[in-house]
Amino acid sequence: MDPGHLALHFLPPDADEINDVIYRNQDMTLLLAAGMVILIGLLGLAIWLFLRNRPDRSLGYLAQYDHLTGLINRALFRDRLSSALVRARRDGGLVTVMFLDIDGFKDINDRFGHSVGDEMLRQIAARLVECLRESDTVARLGGDEFTVILEGGQRVEDAGQVATKILKAIGTPYQIGDRELVVTASIGIAVYPLDGDSYEDLVKGADTAMYQSKAAGKNTYQYFTKSLRDRTSERIALMDDLRAAIHDGGQLRIEYQPKVDLARGTVIGIEALIRWEHPVHGLLMPGEFIPLAEESDLIVPMSKWLFDEACHDMAGWLDEGMRPMRVAVNASERLFRDANLVESIAVALAAANLDPRHFEIEVTERTITHEAERTERALERLADMGVKVSIDDFGTGYSSLRQLQALSIHALKIDQSFVRDAHTRAESRAIVEAIVAIARSFDLGVIAEGVETPEELSTIRMLGCTRVQGYLVARPLRPERVMEFVESYNETLVFAKGVQEADSR
Ligand code: C2E
Ligand code: MG
Ligand code: MG
Repeated sequence: MDPGHLALHFLPPDADEINDVIYRNQDMTLLLAAGMVILIGLLGLAIWLFLRNRPDRSLGYLAQYDHLTGLINRALFRDRLSSALVRARRDGGLVTVMFLDIDGFKDINDRFGHSVGDEMLRQIAARLVECLRESDTVARLGGDEFTVILEGGQRVEDAGQVATKILKAIGTPYQIGDRELVVTASIGIAVYPLDGDSYEDLVKGADTAMYQSKAAGKNTYQYFTKSLRDRTSERIALMDDLRAAIHDGGQLRIEYQPKVDLARGTVIGIEALIRWEHPVHGLLMPGEFIPLAEESDLIVPMSKWLFDEACHDMAGWLDEGMRPMRVAVNASERLFRDANLVESIAVALAAANLDPRHFEIEVTERTITHEAERTERALERLADMGVKVSIDDFGTGYSSLRQLQALSIHALKIDQSFVRDAHTRAESRAIVEAIVAIARSFDLGVIAEGVETPEELSTIRMLGCTRVQGYLVARPLRPERVMEFVESYNETLVFAKGVQEADSR
């Protein structure tokens, strides 16, 4: 092969040509690089946009936001309010806290199911956000409870206007699926610095005021007022006093109200009713402190104290020769829920050496429906021990015939409200008659509570109830008068005169 020929083929290109190729390659590289940069930029932007718009489900998000509504949750609400207070202390101005609770929300859930309830909460949250300025805070504390923080205002009345706006927004009908639903809300308002300067005080104040709105008929707002504040601190003080009173026992005492059998003319039992001799407020009746005791769990030690005392008193009277009967104590619903009711009764009986035959507990109809299973088990164990059980305030609750059959009970106590007007109202008379009939067919005893007048007594007797308890027979007695009453009642039948008078009218 001719090397010249070959050489021709491999003749190196001239310099221009080389430069051309180089430049063209450089252009391409630059173009490529620029393209890459743009691509990466776009990708970054896309990722950023995606991340920004994506609902955050990280742990941090979950810890601070309510997953149902997207509002901030209790933890973040606490932070926000605390920082608002710091700012207000530094710069002046008001901080308003509102507590908002949907009226009858449980009914919505019960009637239409939780998915409808959830959707409604989402819509409520959206309406709240819409009602408020961007600088305001809305939170969902849980359930149907929302809170609002308004910052930087100068006039307390402004909060009321915002609350009115919120009530209106919430009260507008909701379209959920093919249903149109309506709810209302109750709002409580507390304002820094008037109603407190700490997170706790303001939250407690707004919460108390919210309950006040509920009590005032719902669909309204209330400010936390001085009288509400006084009442709250009074309640707290009373609770502290009660704790001390239970601890040293000196101020608590029991009165015993006789229950009598008219057919036999004898006292068949006594009901132990607690009293509190408060050093400042004087004699307090159970209605004034039992709810407080139940709220604070003090009901547990209080009831233990009473069981011990009642067993001890009864054992003493029996020892002294009083005719055999039962002492009845009232057991709060609370005791079935979280206390060892059966054990405390067993301990009290053993300590006093009292036969369980002489002991009875009264449980309200409400308790047996609210705490159905636990009550059933506890009552069964008590019955096995030989303790009798009666249903208090019967006729005011919703117990079923099946429950009456299943429960180990011994007697029904007809609520005072029916006894009160059985002689004037046909409906009450019918209820009394029905209760007597139920008792007969279930082989239970029946006793009328709160008999005050000869008329009431004669009607009750006519309707077939011969056991009664009430002021007409005897008011609750101090322990030292019990023996004497039981004996003299046997002898003289003091009130039989009243019965005859009423019967002959
Ligand atoms: P309750 O068990 O239905 O007791 C009957 C209440 O009616 C007692 O009021 C009694 O004094 C009152 N009462 C009796 N006869 C008459 C009457 O003829 N007319 C009127 N107007 N009232 C009459 P009290 O002692 O104020 O007790 C109220 C409630 O407080 C009791 O209702 C009971 O539910 C509760 N309670 C009382 N002591 C205790 C206790 O030691 N523990 C618990 N958990 N509750 C108690
Ligand atoms: Mg009772
Ligand atoms: Mg009662």
